[in-house]
Amino acid sequence: MSVLDNINEKISNANSVLILTHENPDGDAIGSSLALYNALLKLEKKALVYIPIPDKTFSFLPGYSEIMTGEIMPIYKDFDLCISLDSSDLNRLGNPKELFNSIDNTICIDHHITNQNYADINYVNAVASSTCENLMVIMASLNLAINKEIAECLYTGILTDTGGFRYSCQPETMEMVATIMETGVNTAKIYRTVYDITTFAKTKLTGRCIDRLELTEDAKIAFTYVLKADLDELNLEESDTDQIVYFGRDIDSVEVSLLAKERADGTFKISMRSNEIVDVSVVASKFGGGGHVRAAGCEFSMTLDQIKQSLFEEIYKQLKDN
Ligand code: 5GP
Ligand code: MN
Repeated sequence: MSVLDNINEKISNANSVLILTHENPDGDAIGSSLALYNALLKLEKKALVYIPIPDKTFSFLPGYSEIMTGEIMPIYKDFDLCISLDSSDLNRLGNPKELFNSIDNTICIDHHITNQNYADINYVNAVASSTCENLMVIMASLNLAINKEIAECLYTGILTDTGGFRYSCQPETMEMVATIMETGVNTAKIYRTVYDITTFAKTKLTGRCIDRLELTEDAKIAFTYVLKADLDELNLEESDTDQIVYFGRDIDSVEVSLLAKERADGTFKISMRSNEIVDVSVVASKFGGGGHVRAAGCEFSMTLDQIKQSLFEEIYKQLKDN
């Protein structure tokens, strides 16, 4: 049986499905989770999306208000299938990974080249722009006609994981977008909601980070940081920092942009972006993280100076060859 047939069979036989995705969920994580949720409801299955802290940017998506949130995990145990989306390894699921391990049947749908195939069935196509794109292939194999609600969720994942269609993608991506648009999705409105609308506090935080932005002597690496105190003062969350790393990346001399985000426990989450040369997934993997060639991340429990030193060293291993 092909992987798609296997997935088809598992979903057909399931009554109650738990949907999980990675921590600090982005548009593809929430989009794919809610696309699958709406699709399962259409198939008359019981489904639950559990995301401890979702991102309010995506609260316009159908089904968002039904997401189970908070650190207390769902207690009922009648899930017969768990599907994890957009999460390359079990640890990326955060605390809900315990739930994943407790369910008999598991499927992972993802597009990260660093995926560790941790589920019973793994559908990982790293050529796809997004997990949403892979999910759309699975839906087609289930003969599930996508409605406008499902299409809005899928569009959001494809839109955000292509950086608003900035990054290269395969022709199939655009074919899928065409199918999505045929359902009547208001793509311009979704774009503005996701990328343009911001808040005063987020704009102020961006200002602080631009102020702190520094370059290496050769001006090839940009570095800045967000402190927990910034988020507290401005009443913001980590997910409100998503766009800040791009200010460094877009400077003409810069190859790699780094943003360090301090968490409540004093550790730092790093966002990395590169332009043309450095494979940042390799850099992130060196420190236990992962991601894609041009966008990756990892975590550190060190001081900012030590973090800089460690990251710069790894990045220069790649830069010196060019
Ligand atoms: P971001 O900077 O937006 O948080 O993450 C960029 C990319 O790197 C995303 O595709 C994300 O999945 C991946 N990524 C970020 N942090 C981690 C991490 O700690 N572990 C792994 N495996 N991937 C990460
Ligand atoms: Mn993704």
